[in-house]
Amino acid sequence: MPARNILVINCGSSSIKFALINEAHSDFLLSGLAERLGSPDAQLHWHRGGEKDSLILPNADHRVALAQVLPLVQSAAGGQLHGIGHRVVHGGEHFTAACRLDALSLSAIRATAPLAPLHNPANLLGIEAAIKLFPNLTQVAVFDTAFHQTLPEHAYRYALPEYLYREHGVRRYGFHGTSHRYVSQRAAELAGLPVGNSSWLVAHLGNGCSTCAIVDGQSRDTSMGLTPLEGLVMGTRSGDVDPNLHSHLARTLGWSLEQIDTLLNKDSGLLGLSGLSNDMRSLEQAREQGHAGATLAIEVFCYRLAKSLAAMSCALPQLDGLIFTGGIGENSPLIRSKTVAHLQLLGLALDEQANVSTVRGASGAIHAPGHPRVLVVPTNEERQIALDTLELLEA
Ligand code: ADP
Repeated sequence: MPARNILVINCGSSSIKFALINEAHSDFLLSGLAERLGSPDAQLHWHRGGEKDSLILPNADHRVALAQVLPLVQSAAGGQLHGIGHRVVHGGEHFTAACRLDALSLSAIRATAPLAPLHNPANLLGIEAAIKLFPNLTQVAVFDTAFHQTLPEHAYRYALPEYLYREHGVRRYGFHGTSHRYVSQRAAELAGLPVGNSSWLVAHLGNGCSTCAIVDGQSRDTSMGLTPLEGLVMGTRSGDVDPNLHSHLARTLGWSLEQIDTLLNKDSGLLGLSGLSNDMRSLEQAREQGHAGATLAIEVFCYRLAKSLAAMSCALPQLDGLIFTGGIGENSPLIRSKTVAHLQLLGLALDEQANVSTVRGASGAIHAPGHPRVLVVPTNEERQIALDTLELLEA
């Protein structure tokens, strides 16, 4: 059988990211982004074999943009497209693994929308457009939450009255599951350990950030909760705050729920702390030049990350290694070094030379000899979605 091609689609409310993956190639055959959909500035950008191109598509919606992507995909795939994998943010308690898209699974994804009102409806736009354009292809949904459905109840329940969980689904779900799963499998391969008999801490550090404790290939705890706001300091998200902050701001400043929501999701995190940027690269440069806000943002980010990893260690029987991934985890020796410095009680220490040289897509070990493993493993959520899609094609 020739190596198969899978199109991976990740839809936001006004964007579509896509990648065409061949099971035998590590590089994408085609990848791109349609952005500002629904506006006069809608555009499509793509990369294919080292070439870049783009197209202006005024007022294009998801379906128009996907229809433009279609011939690019067919040409890059040589007319052989075998399936489509869609990223879906929230699968609630219904989805414990990837699933084929049909009337039943689509209605279950729709039913989960109240848990992810910004994300699931956007994901559905892409799914519905793709089903119309490719009615005869197998299409699969891969959920950010599914990997965390193995959390034990003591890790996923909030200390709230039970009816909020039973009747309204208020519990911890966790996100970034596709990335945590992919990098923990790769780490086990790198370390020569069986995935099914190994224990990992993972720090996924991109614009959104989360930690995860993984035992024998299963998620046992994670830092994000009901929504992707809980846990670590992120680009623009606050992570954990005192839950009474909401009533405090409402009472003392008269803020509305919408204002508080915007504050915590869009104006906080690295951006709020530094007063400068949500981008770690810019903050590292500003810190070099003595910017106080950037320096503080980096200190808080690393301390809170270390605290979360130490908390996650409660879920592990032993520590086979700590894994750094995501744009910051893969590229920032400074953040890795500062974080590990807070974790001496776990016995962690870095080989600073290995730390500094493991960047830009490199994977490898960066721990000092005789100390627990610390690994850098580039994430590849698109490849994991393609692998899940291929598995369901065979099922
Ligand atoms: P997303 O979550 O949107 O996929 P990424 O995983 O690409 O985001 O991570 C984006 C973050 O990675 C940004 O804060 C960016 O500044 C940071 N980053 C990328 N390269 C570097 C670098 N060389 N040093 C420090 N941070 C970096």
